[in-house]
Amino acid sequence: MANEETGLMKYEAVIGLEVHAQMRTDTKIFCGCSTLFGSEPNSQTCPVCIGMPGVLPVLNKKALGFAIRTGLATDCTISPYSRFARKNYFYPDLPKGYQISQYELPICEHGQIEILVDGQAGKIGITRIHMEEDAGKNIHEGTGDFSFVDLNRAGVPLMEIVSEPDLRSPQEAVAYMKKLRTILIYLGVCDGNMEQGSLRCDANISVRPVGRQEFGVKVEIKNLNSFRFVEKALEYEIKRQRKVIEEGGKIIQETRLWDSGSGVTESMRGKEEAHDYRYFPEPDLVPMTVDPAWINEIQSSLPELPDAKRERFVSEYGLPEADADLLTSEKPLSEWFEDAVKTGGGPKTVANWIMGDLMKLLNAENKTIEECPLQPHQLVDMLKLVENGTISGKIAKTVFEEIFRTGKNAGAIIQEQGLVQISDAGEIEKIVDEIIANHAKEAERFKAGEEKLMGFFVGQVMKLTKGKANPQVVNELLKKNLLS
Ligand code: ADP
Ligand code: ZN
Ligand code: MG
Repeated sequence: MANEETGLMKYEAVIGLEVHAQMRTDTKIFCGCSTLFGSEPNSQTCPVCIGMPGVLPVLNKKALGFAIRTGLATDCTISPYSRFARKNYFYPDLPKGYQISQYELPICEHGQIEILVDGQAGKIGITRIHMEEDAGKNIHEGTGDFSFVDLNRAGVPLMEIVSEPDLRSPQEAVAYMKKLRTILIYLGVCDGNMEQGSLRCDANISVRPVGRQEFGVKVEIKNLNSFRFVEKALEYEIKRQRKVIEEGGKIIQETRLWDSGSGVTESMRGKEEAHDYRYFPEPDLVPMTVDPAWINEIQSSLPELPDAKRERFVSEYGLPEADADLLTSEKPLSEWFEDAVKTGGGPKTVANWIMGDLMKLLNAENKTIEECPLQPHQLVDMLKLVENGTISGKIAKTVFEEIFRTGKNAGAIIQEQGLVQISDAGEIEKIVDEIIANHAKEAERFKAGEEKLMGFFVGQVMKLTKGKANPQVVNELLKKNLLS
């Protein structure tokens, strides 16, 4: 009986994310070394970032500004007084033996981000945002019997953005992370490049029976660097934790790793082996007291953020919420849309072309909107030719693809390929009569009331004219001549 009950028990997931975002500064957080990705190993290092004894770190003001900017954009309180802390642990990619991070006094706290899942809006709390330095990188592959250490990344500025345990499904977790990425890119504080590791996350997850208030014991899944991995790892972990509980076991607090090859999470270390970082205030850096005037200055320099832009796209252009959401999910995409509308395109028509044909072509060539060879005004020019009847809506699809491939304008393509729409009634009537004559049986059936044959006749005309006949004229003439 008890077992049956457990079998029927419904569980819900409780998830909180710790997202690491690399800040887009030119130089490192505590020294002047370059942050450029992909350079010769150890070519961007100095005594400060490789942890020589006796050196002193100096805070990069731009990094602090970026953290504040992010805090303001996510409704956080900016701490008037905050400081760095040493997080002590030993690892070859951390020659100092400690990472400079923030602990009890982070720069930002108590924020929130709005997410949209299946048309439902919800707010996800941000516990804190703190600054820290990245560690170096150990290289084990292709190095024979040795492992190498590359310290170019050591000291690169990071923000850690910690969410409240407000997320209830892998889909919400992904929506949250996507939204956060969008905001960071809008703000210009992070490039959002997940393949290069500019944005990665640790996902904390527990399950509990629906209706229960207390949280279950959580597991932390380390270092997820794609939305897919976040979703898959969390889905796997929900199933695993449920099974353990249903079989009468207990979840143990531990750190796990996602193995994308085999699609499972595996234990990395338990609570007993958990690091004791022995945090203490960083004695080499003075605490930060941020001037309120500077905070105001940053506040007034914030760009229009994705939520505000989405709402404006709905109210100003009359777009459906879903269209507005998609078009504002990337800043350059929203700008492409607005450029097209400003040069005279109808908002909904432009939105449809972007979300349909343009996205398809971009995806097929693995291009981003910034690499799009087709300019907004070229779409608008083409749309005008559809409106004034020069080309049909169907031919427009071919023309659009040609603009995309060749960069030529619609007018030139239409001339070159003879795609001008045939609207001349006399010319179309000749074709219509010819087709009716050649399909006498079908014409009889149509006259007898089989109206769905209209589609067949239209198809025949379009075939003969290679899609160039004006559909409205074709329809009118067919009706008239079939029934006469
Ligand atoms: P720790 O002390 O292990 O670092 P924190 O309380 O600082 O844990 O939380 C780390 C992250 O884990 C946060 O994102 C938080 O929202 C999330 N979290 C905390 N408790 C739970 C829980 N029971 N289930 C899922 N996530 C949780
Ligand atoms: Zn350096
Ligand atoms: Mg913690």
